[in-house]
Amino acid sequence: LEKQIRRNNRLATLGQIAAGTAHEIRNPLTSIKGFLQVIGHRLKENGQYKEQGYIEIMLKEISRISNLVGEFLLLSKPRDVRLQTVSVFKVLKEILPIIKNEAMLHNVQVNIEKNLSSLPVVVADGELLKQVFLNLCKNAIEAMGDGGELTIRLTAGEPESKVIVDIVDMGPGIPVHVMEKIFEPFFTTKENGTGLGLSICQQIMKEIGGFIRVSSGEMGTTFSVHLPLA
Ligand code: ADP
Ligand code: MG
Repeated sequence: LEKQIRRNNRLATLGQIAAGTAHEIRNPLTSIKGFLQVIGHRLKENGQYKEQGYIEIMLKEISRISNLVGEFLLLSKPRDVRLQTVSVFKVLKEILPIIKNEAMLHNVQVNIEKNLSSLPVVVADGELLKQVFLNLCKNAIEAMGDGGELTIRLTAGEPESKVIVDIVDMGPGIPVHVMEKIFEPFFTTKENGTGLGLSICQQIMKEIGGFIRVSSGEMGTTFSVHLPLA
């Protein structure tokens, strides 16, 4: 419990810092990016390829900062949770194009399985729920490096009181020593990761009144999102 409280305090402080500065960082970044692109084009026209390469590196670093700040914003947005009855299937369908696009870039195929007799309606915040599914699918796709299948499976939880959305990948799985830390803010094993995705997901699920379970092995990883029924 103490660990949990410390973690929550850390998240709250993080949110306060982020809220004040994220926008202020993002706006100048956008303008720097724009001008760098112009310079890059000029250098290319002049055949200065080495210098153009430097610009490319700068642009990449800028998008890293921009991603980080973007996730900060999500974490800190003083946004009220709007709980309402939402159709899980509809939420999934709305973000499917984004997931498929990301999957395509990584040579991943997306399957949706519906092991339910009717379409489940849950009490949640649709927009926040989208964020959770997107983050988990993004991780699943990234875990597969180059190619594989991402399965999104809807099932009824036991004892029929919940809806479970499984996000299943065929990646290398999560080693035990890594598993302990994956929900910690800033924990990442990726070169360009922020380590914020899962901590955001966990925070959102807490607000919605659901939870996430993970199981992982050599055959891949499954993140199960448990949602309260309406
Ligand atoms: P990020 O994606 O920026 O690294 P996350 O909070 O989303 O941050 O994830 C934290 C870490 O959890 C990842 O760096 C990775 O090590 C691990 N992880 C998350 N999802 C998966 C997955 N589907 N397969 C393997 N590892 C995963
Ligand atoms: Mg992530």
